[in-house]
Amino acid sequence: MGFNALVVEKSEEGATSAAVRQLEVADLPKGEVLVAVDYSTVNYKDGLCIGPGGGLVRSYPHVPGIDFAGTVERSEDPRYTPGDKVVLTGWRVGEAHWGGYAQKASVRADWLVPLPDGLTTRQAMAVGTAGFTAMLAVMALEDHGLEPGRGPVLVTGAAGGVGSVATAILAHRGYEVAAVTGRPETEAYLRDLGATTIVPRAELNETTKRPLESETWAGCVDAVGGAMLARVLGQMKYGCSVAAVGLAGGAALPATVIPFLLRGVNLLGIDSVMQPYANRERAWARVAQDLPMDKLEAMVRPATLHDLPQIGADILRGQVQGRVVVDVN
Ligand code: NDP
Repeated sequence: MGFNALVVEKSEEGATSAAVRQLEVADLPKGEVLVAVDYSTVNYKDGLCIGPGGGLVRSYPHVPGIDFAGTVERSEDPRYTPGDKVVLTGWRVGEAHWGGYAQKASVRADWLVPLPDGLTTRQAMAVGTAGFTAMLAVMALEDHGLEPGRGPVLVTGAAGGVGSVATAILAHRGYEVAAVTGRPETEAYLRDLGATTIVPRAELNETTKRPLESETWAGCVDAVGGAMLARVLGQMKYGCSVAAVGLAGGAALPATVIPFLLRGVNLLGIDSVMQPYANRERAWARVAQDLPMDKLEAMVRPATLHDLPQIGADILRGQVQGRVVVDVN
């Protein structure tokens, strides 16, 4: 039986175009587990893979969607049986392999995790790679000594996917959250997620010649990178850490090593794609525990496969608020 998928094609001139098409199970790449997908989502990387590719997509035609959640339909692996609810994030699915923007997906068993207790497939995709990564960032900060009461925690790119989930998790855990945004109209939304201070993006986008400024932040989840990250490093309190998650503002890091040497600041790299299984399970369990579901719901914008070309373009322009949940059916 045929099923719907968002298929991206590339012309001989190199232009990509995305449209919903009918595929057969026989069209899917070989995999140990066939999943009937319930929901997918839209991350920054999905914007690249729906559109220009960003060097991530290996070959065309391509089915993007770096995340999905659904039900096992067929499995050659003893860990999964038909009817099991599963989640997939990372492993270059949706980039180098066909992904979740389809009603069916064929993948390796190693890439799946069982749906965490207490979450629906829809909630798991409201979290998605962005929220899972926000959780990994909070875990890394806490593993390096962050605890409530040490001072405000900064979240950059706060109205985006990673930033929204990080804000809600940190506030729920009792941290004072300062949210950096370039969109003043998101202030009420960010305060509702639990931010107590709103920092205009322009305040941190300006470079400074001073390698150290006043010690302000007890921790930072940084989705922006670039000049903003460089600036934030010089504002960290003694011995505190920044979790570097993203590059929405640029990949270059125009910084000095002075905050590391004189203030013992730590820069912690966060990767969600190749994260080992044990830590994936730990992070998903923490999401179910630390992310209030009413706050998660407040972040959600529903969408269908047909909406994806537009939303993909919007997220590349920093125009998506919170998390998009794609009902592929
Ligand atoms: P979103 O587009 O949802 O969020 C990014 C946010 O960053 C925007 O909403 C905006 O927030 C802010 N922003 C955008 N452009 C700029 C700019 N030029 N300067 C400063 N701020 C800007 O994306 P995601 O939350 O899905 O991803 C955020 C970043 O994290 C991306 O770079 C993504 O690639 C990366 N990422 C990395 C992962 C990993 O494994 N390390 C996993 C997931 C994501 P506002 O309007 O509030 O200012």
